[in-house]
Amino acid sequence: MAKSGDPTYFGAHLADIAAPPRTAEEATPVAIIGGGLAGMTLALALRQHGIGARIFDARPRGAARHDPRALALSHGSQQTFAWLGLWPQIAAAATPIVSIHVSQRGGFGRTRITAAEQDVPALGQVVAAGHIAAVLDTALAAAGIEYHEHTRIDCVNMDADTGRVWLRDDRGDARDSARLVIYAEGAVDAAHADAATQTRTRDYGQHALVCEARTSTPHHGTAYERFTAQGPLALLPCGAADNFSVVYTCSPDEARRLLSLDDAAFLAALQAHFGLGQRLRFVAATPRHVFPLGLRYRRSPIGPRRVWLGNAAQTLHPVAGQGFNLALRDIRDLARVLTGSPDPGARATLQRYANTRRIDRAGTIGFTDGIVRLFSNDLPLLREGRGLALLALDLLPPLRGLVARRMMYGTRDG
Ligand SMILES: Cc1cc2nc3c(=O)[nH]c(=O)nc-3n(C[C@H](O)[C@H](O)[C@H](O)COP(=O)(O)OP(=O)(O)OC[C@H]3O[C@@H](n4cnc5c(N)ncnc54)[C@H](O)[C@@H]3O)c2cc1C
Repeated sequence: MAKSGDPTYFGAHLADIAAPPRTAEEATPVAIIGGGLAGMTLALALRQHGIGARIFDARPRGAARHDPRALALSHGSQQTFAWLGLWPQIAAAATPIVSIHVSQRGGFGRTRITAAEQDVPALGQVVAAGHIAAVLDTALAAAGIEYHEHTRIDCVNMDADTGRVWLRDDRGDARDSARLVIYAEGAVDAAHADAATQTRTRDYGQHALVCEARTSTPHHGTAYERFTAQGPLALLPCGAADNFSVVYTCSPDEARRLLSLDDAAFLAALQAHFGLGQRLRFVAATPRHVFPLGLRYRRSPIGPRRVWLGNAAQTLHPVAGQGFNLALRDIRDLARVLTGSPDPGARATLQRYANTRRIDRAGTIGFTDGIVRLFSNDLPLLREGRGLALLALDLLPPLRGLVARRMMYGTRDG
């Protein structure tokens, strides 16, 4: 057992602690490509474990503050932000979801999942993605973490002899060398050298139209998930007592048509889509944005001295609000696995990370894909099946509990 006079006391060699890092690369062994939500959170998580990282982003710094989406953060994600010391700032602009109303248009069956029944204060917290980005950006600046804006990284080469990875920007200039490169570029790169063997895609033929909409009555913390033949329509309570964040999934052509409507015509279309007989009345809407949807993921999130993270590892349909929540669980485990490793890019270390994440990652991808495929069509047999599934959920509290825990914690902790 090591004693205080022993150089390995506290599990680290004192000579290593005392000697300042010899090169910038030793002080900052990790390079992160992409300073969106995932890249910024990872840099802070690594910092929490004493691992230096720098970020390179193609866009001007602060661009992520204008992200128009609202994200439903799970209970596990709140805990991660609390661990980073950022939950109070994020919570200041969060709206708790106290119940979720699930139904299908044109079919029977509906259910309601409530926080009270699950014995939690909230099923999730809705926060504007731009607000989360602002909190992360401010924290990065306070921590003095390097953020290189206007820097698109186009080329990553590995020097097998030295174990270094070199990053070049789109002008061909060398920008950095590191022991480990994290791809957090926000998309699965179909042009990557190993894309043919690594990448899996499914086109749902759907786009998501996103905006905020006000209703004539308060939401009381209720979220709505309404399945339609075109895709799910999600309404998340967000901000003011009568304000919802809307995710309206539909065909690409329909999304283009909805974008071109004036506000009054759009509100009428939203009302008709949600259901004229429903109790919500939409009275105003903010400008609309469209996101193409699909499932794209890498079979493995690791490669030689490389890790793919966030949407660069898996881009999911937003139906169950899982994308960023899964990224946060990846980030927490990655930071934990890299801690104490003398070489953060070592093959065994990265393999340990991939093994740790396998079940949660595969489960979350499969869960999301399954919901989209089961609920986004108008086949009579499936409509009946969906109705029965919703009925079963409504009648069986343990089943509701299972679904609620999956949404709140992911596979691992569920
Ligand atoms: C409509 C919608 C609703 C959603 N709702 C939820 C939800 O409720 N809950 C949830 O958990 N998730 C949700 N998601 C998913 C969530 O938005 C994403 O998982 C998350 O935003 C991904 O963050 P990211 O950092 O991986 O990517 P991004 O935020 O896209 O960041 C990528 C960054 O990389 C930079 N970049 C790209 N290429 C390069 C390059 N070559 N060099 C340098 N920089 C580069 C870009 O400039 C960008 O800043 C939703 C998604 C959609 C579409």
